[in-house]
Amino acid sequence: MQESVYDVVIIGAGPAGATAAAMLAKAGKRVLVVEKQEFPRFSIGESLLPQCMTFIEEAGLLDTVLENAERLGFQYKEGAAFYYNGNKVDFDFRKKSSKGPGTTYQVKREHFDQLLAQGAAEKGAEVRHGIALEAIDFSDPDAVKLSLSSTTGKTEAKARFVLDASGFGRVLPRLLSLESPSDFPVRQAVFCHVKSELTGGHFDRTKILITVHPRNPEVWYWLIPFADGTASIGVVGASEYFAENDSEKEALWKLVADEPYLLEVLGEYKVVRAEQRITGYSANVDRLYGDRFALLGNAGEFLDPVFSSGVTIAMQSSSLAVPLVLKELNNEPQDWQKQYSDPLRVGITTFRTFVKGWYDTRFQDVIFYPDQQQQVKAMICSILAGYAWDTNNPYVRDSERRLNVLAELCS
Ligand code: FAD
Repeated sequence: MQESVYDVVIIGAGPAGATAAAMLAKAGKRVLVVEKQEFPRFSIGESLLPQCMTFIEEAGLLDTVLENAERLGFQYKEGAAFYYNGNKVDFDFRKKSSKGPGTTYQVKREHFDQLLAQGAAEKGAEVRHGIALEAIDFSDPDAVKLSLSSTTGKTEAKARFVLDASGFGRVLPRLLSLESPSDFPVRQAVFCHVKSELTGGHFDRTKILITVHPRNPEVWYWLIPFADGTASIGVVGASEYFAENDSEKEALWKLVADEPYLLEVLGEYKVVRAEQRITGYSANVDRLYGDRFALLGNAGEFLDPVFSSGVTIAMQSSSLAVPLVLKELNNEPQDWQKQYSDPLRVGITTFRTFVKGWYDTRFQDVIFYPDQQQQVKAMICSILAGYAWDTNNPYVRDSERRLNVLAELCS
């Protein structure tokens, strides 16, 4: 690693870090990405939303994704299907009210993240794997000093600006004491990959399937098919729905056994990636920026997996932060609250409203309402497709009130 000062050091090469790196490298900046893990590496978060394709394009990585989609088993995705006790409702993202792409992919993240990181490197970012940020020092006004560690020892890097894209690692929130509790209760997700033809239940593999537990609507399942004949299956719920001493395997399959439609779709299957559990993933921070740093993606906030919004929020954060970083590097003063935090929180607030409404079932009433008006459905569809920042949509502009009114009508 060179001793001179990088324009930007990015911590983490997930979707937030890689897209930010590509955007900054495209703008001619000297960027270093330090990534703790060697790629390819597993990550959860496999169902993308169409809105994120606009950020991939902005980063100059769309051709790379499209050209490699088939080879890497990315599953073409054009919607979401919801199922609850005999009611099945489809949302076709191409029928959304917002402008922008209506289709995307479901991806094994080891391949997707590696593709984006390589794409950023091809644009000129220096991407270094097996290197973790351990400490940071902002005392020198000319350069932020980063202490890094790898299997070969300790090293340092200097930067004019730092972007923390360390995801659930939440490096700067921990080091700078920025963490604040999430307002969501602690839930857990247990999941695995299976090999299955998924031919039962008239399943449409171009849609993610979200099914609801027949007796406990707070518990829900995902089925995310990939194009290579495998699929991701998972269940999410508060701890009270899982027996305390169950292994990951018991926890997942006991709850799957409660949901007949999911079993029908699944048919014969073989587990090809072992069951795994993540607990207490929702997180928040006091602020998303500070002197010469900003937090991207999950390093800032993570809500809940139910609407597959994580990667889209992560990439939106890069898209909003990069123009401000470029101006900062030009010594132009920026208002990070007004130009980054507030706009980013527009979409986060929208998703938060609908996530809360999902668990208290107001939004489930809306989704499963049989006679939904097409115009309203198109607006809801926009949000499910990731267009949660489109303030032309009244369900974005005034999400809580609009959801309440609609839920009242549908209940
Ligand atoms: P990450 O993807 O977590 O990347 C962070 C990177 O930083 C990692 O590679 C990590 O190794 C690296 N890192 C960490 N610490 C350090 C360090 N000290 N130094 C250097 N590098 C470091 N989102 C969706 O869009 N669709 C879904 O279907 C979906 N399903 C989900 C299901 C569950 C159960 C959960 C919990 C989340 C799900 N998500 C989903 C959310 C999604 O996983 C995240 O929102 C997304 O990965 C965030 O991207 P990121 O770039 O911010 O962070």
